[in-house]
Amino acid sequence: MEIPFVDLKTQYHSIKKEILEIVDNVMENSAFIGGSFVKKFESDFTEFCNAKYCVGVGNGTDAIIISLRSLGIGPGDEVITAANSFIATSEAISQTGAKVVFCDVDEATRNINPDLIVEKITDRTKAIIPVHLYGQPADMDSILEIAKQNSLYVVEDCAQAHGARYKGKKAGTFGDIGCFSFYPGKNLGAYGDGGAIITDNKELEEKIRKFANHGRSEKYNHEFEGINSRLDGMQAAILSVKLKHLEEWNNKRNTNARTYNEKLKGIKDLITPVIPYDRDHFFHLYVIRSKERDRLKKFLTENGISCGIHYPIALPNLKAYSYLKHRPGDFPVSSGLQDEILSLPMFPELNTKQIEYIASIIEEFYA
Ligand SMILES: *Cc1c(COP(=O)(O)O)cnc(C)c1O
Repeated sequence: MEIPFVDLKTQYHSIKKEILEIVDNVMENSAFIGGSFVKKFESDFTEFCNAKYCVGVGNGTDAIIISLRSLGIGPGDEVITAANSFIATSEAISQTGAKVVFCDVDEATRNINPDLIVEKITDRTKAIIPVHLYGQPADMDSILEIAKQNSLYVVEDCAQAHGARYKGKKAGTFGDIGCFSFYPGKNLGAYGDGGAIITDNKELEEKIRKFANHGRSEKYNHEFEGINSRLDGMQAAILSVKLKHLEEWNNKRNTNARTYNEKLKGIKDLITPVIPYDRDHFFHLYVIRSKERDRLKKFLTENGISCGIHYPIALPNLKAYSYLKHRPGDFPVSSGLQDEILSLPMFPELNTKQIEYIASIIEEFYA
């Protein structure tokens, strides 16, 4: 049996009619940049997240850069983030001119460890960027408390956590700003690049909207220099269609994760993800841990199962950050995870038969 890592085609077929109709509508209205489809998606997404404002932007990386810049963060400042994210998170910090400060993660949740944040704070620290990695919200109560005590901004990287909830509240609505990516493979994915920023702060929303659109308030009236980073009409229209299905898709991901956990229970040397009781983890990625990761991955691949590693080199260990002169031992949890984690196929349309097959191959490997 061949099982892909993600299957965007099957999902497209399930909504094809709606998508083609709305794309035609965008074309007929020539609503390519700005316009009614972008407005509608911003309003739909605001409602979905239970936030006050939403600004569509070009992609998730820009969402973080624009957010930090709009908070006035730049050269001389420091921003703390998790040591085990995708590089976009830390790259965005550097792009503002601020210094990246990595913080190790918690062994169980694999999210930033609040107990380790405080020792990273200096008088230059301006913000914390928790990443809700793999679709699971970070420990927001502790993070918000630390931020409050130290007057720091909180910008949430929600690129993997559309719709995820912590104590009933949606990811992106805890901090000052929530940043989303609509890269095609994300839980809510466009058919191209896209991103969004949510906030409850009106003043920030205005700054963000201007910054992402050449610093302008009217067509050729520019208050300051910004950048060009916009969600286009076509992607916005597609996202509005897909957003209606997101809750159902997210629930299927969660069900699939539970099925995996059940089928993989008791296999020695294999650590399956914890399904937390106080937050809704919508499994953008289903990540297991094994001391024999590389051999297991090879065996799965030979049996037609596509896997991934997120991420094979923890951020502080990347060549891109060699200038920070960290050693793997400075981030023991993230550095340990990088050699043992394995992402199994995960998408809403993955069915029980496929999961059973994957589990049987893993059992065979360990037998
Ligand atoms: C995908 C991703 C991003 C970046 O999003 P793009 O839209 O690809 O720029 C940022 N952070 C995390 C954690 C991501 O997974």
